[in-house]
Amino acid sequence: MDLIELILRGLQNARFGEDLGDRREYVGASDVGQCPRKAVLEKFSDEPQDLATLFRFARGHIAEKLVFQALEDQSDKLPRWRYQKEVTHRTHPFKAHIDFLFTTRQELGVLEVKTCDGIPSVPYDGWVQQLHFQMGLIKDRNPDKAVRGAVLAMDLNKGQVSLFNGYEYSSELYEGLLVKAKHIWDCMNDQSLSPRTEKSPLCAWCRYRPDCPAYDQDEEIPSLPLEKELEEYLGLKEQLKDLKDAIDKLADMFKAGIENANPDGDSIRVGENVVRRSVRTRTLIDGRRLQKDLPDIHAKYSTETTYEVLVVE
Ligand code: SF4
Repeated sequence: MDLIELILRGLQNARFGEDLGDRREYVGASDVGQCPRKAVLEKFSDEPQDLATLFRFARGHIAEKLVFQALEDQSDKLPRWRYQKEVTHRTHPFKAHIDFLFTTRQELGVLEVKTCDGIPSVPYDGWVQQLHFQMGLIKDRNPDKAVRGAVLAMDLNKGQVSLFNGYEYSSELYEGLLVKAKHIWDCMNDQSLSPRTEKSPLCAWCRYRPDCPAYDQDEEIPSLPLEKELEEYLGLKEQLKDLKDAIDKLADMFKAGIENANPDGDSIRVGENVVRRSVRTRTLIDGRRLQKDLPDIHAKYSTETTYEVLVVE
């Protein structure tokens, strides 16, 4: 008996989350939040998911349950809320299962829970598209209420959580997403149509990548089994952005502290240290103008160097 194999089989048969019905009969908000080609192929695939994908599903389910338990515990401080609220379009087979829906007399609040490896500094496009589609469907059903939304991103490994808040229903964005949903639906029902491709960093994990027309299939590229390392690399890059934001924020706080505490000076004492505001000067050359006004000088003092970057497609 291969225990790992048994676990894989068991997970493949497991249900994560609520019963979402037959996903071939409608276009969901999560379909709209991803590449149309991937969304369509996923609907009709009988190929079992691999362990990494199953773990990602399970991770999402666990995160939702954690939030559910926390909200249930604090319910007396919250407006009325529902978990996994289904909302459908009036005329088209479009649906969303909203993770958490908060209701007040004037307002509806949509909360989408996402898990990730390393919380990004800004939410991914797909998350935002999914949220706007959910807000649009809710607004259709509740035209008199204001509709707002947020994405709660959780990194379960690192114990980090971040709320991307302040999204509002936008008829313009919703209309655009309805067009995308219709395109997915048309492709689901007419095999002669080719769903559009939407390239993104997520292509790195897409199982339909090998024959994807968005990539040059004739190019022979050797494979390396480094999926986990690539995921870690992308997560760390996101953290680097966060780190820079956090450093900039703290630097601004110290500068404001010096401004308030020592308006005539340039420093403050923090414990044993002195934090000083120091003005430096640098000279910048406007290369474009120099090239335009004095092309000979520009050519004489310019050198072209090449450097290497890593691009993940
Ligand atoms: S590889 Fe990228 S563009 Fe191609 S189907 Fe997958 S997600 Fe879409």
